[in-house]
Amino acid sequence: MYNSVSKPAAKPGVYLTELMITKFLGRVFSGRIFKGGQPKIIPFGSHGIARERISRCALTVTQTLQRHEFAAFVVGGAVRDLLLGREPKDFDVATDATPEEVRRLFRRSRIIGRRFRLVHVMCGPETVEVSTFRGGDAAEDDETRRSDEHGRILRDNVFGNQKQDATRRDFTINALFYDPASQEIWDYHDGVDDLRKRRLRMIGNPEKRYREDPVRLLRAVRLAASRGLEIDARSRKPIRALADLLANVPTSRLFDEMLKLLLSGHAVECVTKLRREGLHHGLLPLLDVILEQPLGERFVMLALKTTDERIRAEKPVSPAFLFAALLWHEVLAAWKSIEAKGVPTIPAFYQAMEQVMQVQAEKLAIPRRFGAEMKEIWALQPRFLQRAGRRPYRLLEHPRFRAGYDFLLLRCESGEVNPDVGGWWTRFQRAGQAEREQMLLQDTEPKKRRRRRRRKERSESEAMKAEG
Ligand code: ATP
Ligand code: MG
Repeated sequence: MYNSVSKPAAKPGVYLTELMITKFLGRVFSGRIFKGGQPKIIPFGSHGIARERISRCALTVTQTLQRHEFAAFVVGGAVRDLLLGREPKDFDVATDATPEEVRRLFRRSRIIGRRFRLVHVMCGPETVEVSTFRGGDAAEDDETRRSDEHGRILRDNVFGNQKQDATRRDFTINALFYDPASQEIWDYHDGVDDLRKRRLRMIGNPEKRYREDPVRLLRAVRLAASRGLEIDARSRKPIRALADLLANVPTSRLFDEMLKLLLSGHAVECVTKLRREGLHHGLLPLLDVILEQPLGERFVMLALKTTDERIRAEKPVSPAFLFAALLWHEVLAAWKSIEAKGVPTIPAFYQAMEQVMQVQAEKLAIPRRFGAEMKEIWALQPRFLQRAGRRPYRLLEHPRFRAGYDFLLLRCESGEVNPDVGGWWTRFQRAGQAEREQMLLQDTEPKKRRRRRRRKERSESEAMKAEG
């Protein structure tokens, strides 16, 4: 179905002229031609966002679409971030062209998505996501829009007009359209005013909108914390009571959202706010328990702080490292309780890692590629305590040594491990051969026991590799 702004293929002759006049009027009257929508149109002079601030690819996409008589706007997070004076991460374009029509206009493009079809247009290394205007409320009774018993929308693949597209978006500041040709912002929900007041406001009835898609609960917290906004009272009120709805969200979506939150460069503020709003329970199960233990909290917060600093300095960060850190005290707790049942130390440690990964896989769907790296970082930890014989040399050669060492430093800083151990490894890396030999601790382990232990370690690490 394609309503309101549907555009029959242009025909030669009279019809084409008519279509062009209609389009022309559409431009002159700045959108008032669209049925049922009265956006506020904010001229360049009032907002100051010049088209040069739009990425090359997004400009090409809107220009090409407009040249072919389609409406095309930069939309969503990019417009919001430009108005906040931030560099947008990526650019999305909204249009009245269908995915097939978009696909035909750009050689390097492909249609993606099952729930709602979008087009990815590639120019060099950049990808711009192009979505067709979608209906929201207007399509409520449509049989293509179905909800579960909590009000969560399961399918909403209905095209709509620009106004409907604005209304189906989550927050007013995310529903702004920027036209690079005229440099105007089209604002259906007073989003620009909210941005000026640094206010995050849900479009429509907040409780209903959270029920439709509980991920919006997390988005509210992430956007408020990372952009320094206040969630307006009506939008904030239902959050705590609806927190349990997150349990119905598919784990892969939860994982994506958590990753965005943790890699936002403001993870400390986000997690602090998640706790304040009572949203952390369903996310990283038992994270609340960890955060209630003084050592666990210090460790998690330190890991988040380090990640934030790296992201703000535009250094790469490893999501696996971060998840390994978030769950470390889970592993320690599980390790202790398995050992208490009489399982020997090292096997108990491996069982603990497995157990924690299992629970997380169910809740957060941590992808397997992260899982293997997380386990490696954890498995290196006991090896940092062995500072005699050839073992420290072997550890230095390990491909994950750097991640394991950074992890160790966090453990030291949080008070879990004696800082001397971290200091020893810092010196050992920098030292020359002679100094290294001097630094090695006395190996007090009897030869026979050492051989037995090594054999066991080897078979365990092979078993891990086979799994990973
Ligand atoms: P960022 O990219 O910084 O995470 P964003 O707002 O651009 O923030 P995206 O996930 O890229 O977030 O979404 C792009 C736009 O799509 C949003 O600005 C919003 O208009 C709309 N949107 C995204 N998620 C939802 C949702 N759950 N409900 C309604 N609208 C949404
Ligand atoms: Mg975005």
